[in-house]
Amino acid sequence: MNLALDIQSLNVSIDKIPILRDVSISVPKGKMVALIGRNGAGKTTLMRAIMGLLPSKAAHMTADGQNIGKTAPHRLAAMGISYLPEDRRLIPSLTVEENILMPAWANHIEDTRKRLEWTYELMPEVAQFRSRRALQLSGGQQKLVALARALMMGQKLILLDEPFEGVAPVLSRRLTEVIGRLREHGLSVILSESDDTHSSDLVDVVFRIERGVVRADVEA
Ligand code: ATP
Repeated sequence: MNLALDIQSLNVSIDKIPILRDVSISVPKGKMVALIGRNGAGKTTLMRAIMGLLPSKAAHMTADGQNIGKTAPHRLAAMGISYLPEDRRLIPSLTVEENILMPAWANHIEDTRKRLEWTYELMPEVAQFRSRRALQLSGGQQKLVALARALMMGQKLILLDEPFEGVAPVLSRRLTEVIGRLREHGLSVILSESDDTHSSDLVDVVFRIERGVVRADVEA
């Protein structure tokens, strides 16, 4: 099968304490996968391990067929893999557009303008406040900007860590719409949530994580 991400038997320990145990998870190309688990189950740790931000050991870890087991975060960005952390801090004194462009400056991508215009098409409201400083935005608006920023590099695979957490209902609906459209653009997505509230209508495959152990939902 054509897999955007394929992980077999991934283990992560922090301070010698095993946090993730024998985790296997795969994301088919162009599909959206949910990672559901309570607080402290290990969702963030798994995303950070995939992004090369934490040391991990895996029997197999590939993205689009390429080994990413020991790949530095900036290399993953160059491969079109991106991460929206739960704590999506923007730089308050920079404008919205400058914040969105930050990863592109840091990583050098060729079609920056085109990619920026694409994020604006996806989220026209962000284009409307592109010249405002990030500190002038509401929390919900900041979430959209952080998603736009992650989408600059995430041309193939994007990891969204609890994007709906702490977001008011109106904005949750808007975020659901935007995230739901990512597949139309060929993106593969991992979306984490503490329960199925928002992801159930969005995703193709569900993985559940409990105390560092992951299992796939098997359809009845
Ligand atoms: P949350 O939504 O609360 O962030 P989560 O599912 O993302 O939940 P993780 O943040 O991945 O969970 O945490 C998984 C486990 O690893 C928790 O028991 C947590 O206490 C532990 N853990 C994570 N980071 C560290 C760290 N730097 N030092 C010690 N323990 C950690």
